[in-house]
Amino acid sequence: MAHPLLVSLLDLVFPPRCAGCGQSGSWLCSACLATISWIRPPICPLCGEGLAGEGRCPRSEHHPQLLDGLRSAAWHAGPLRFALHRLKYRGQRVLADSLGAVLVQAWRREPFPAEVVMPVPLHPTRLRERGYNQATLLARRLCMAVGLPLDERSLRRMRQTPPQVDLRAAERRENMRGAFCYAGPPLDGRSICLIDDICTTGATLEACAAALREAGAGRVWAYTVARPRFDPAPPPGSDR
Ligand SMILES: [Zn+2]
Ligand SMILES: [Zn+2]
Repeated sequence: MAHPLLVSLLDLVFPPRCAGCGQSGSWLCSACLATISWIRPPICPLCGEGLAGEGRCPRSEHHPQLLDGLRSAAWHAGPLRFALHRLKYRGQRVLADSLGAVLVQAWRREPFPAEVVMPVPLHPTRLRERGYNQATLLARRLCMAVGLPLDERSLRRMRQTPPQVDLRAAERRENMRGAFCYAGPPLDGRSICLIDDICTTGATLEACAAALREAGAGRVWAYTVARPRFDPAPPPGSDR
């Protein structure tokens, strides 16, 4: 895989191509943006899941315990999914602008009253490999647009966690325990919104929230660009 710096240079030399459909001219074209499947009300006030007819949250037995609220802008599908994959695994940091705009649009409709925004941190080793933290880029875009302060250094990832793909929700939570710590100025009850690209079970976000609460945070919310549709009974070994 190309070095992130080389990829950035190539982005400058070659004209942009849409991460969704490959058409040249932009990083995420208007046709692909139009396919975004926004998560719109009615949604669960706690976990932000879309609610069907009778209004019961399909996630209610798997609700986050340590978050005051969780929202995602859109379903993890179609061109948005390709673009998020390219941002995270293919070195296309330039996509953070378009994907951050998706987050901004959702935030403007459904904001949290946070005093400060923090991205979910990467472990320093992973950060060196990737060259950037996609959550930080998204959080910067959000803060610039909505005028909230960003703290991208105080929350830290203490250890690399094994891949979560084959773990069930409870195992994921166990897997993430103690993975983060807060090393910034006193929080004194401040309210925080965490930012990440994707959430599946929310175990990573909850582990961040645990560290923030231990350090004296008040309310803690989380916002992600996308989430996969919730499957209440995933077969063993599936991604949950
Ligand atoms: Zn496109
Ligand atoms: Zn819910």
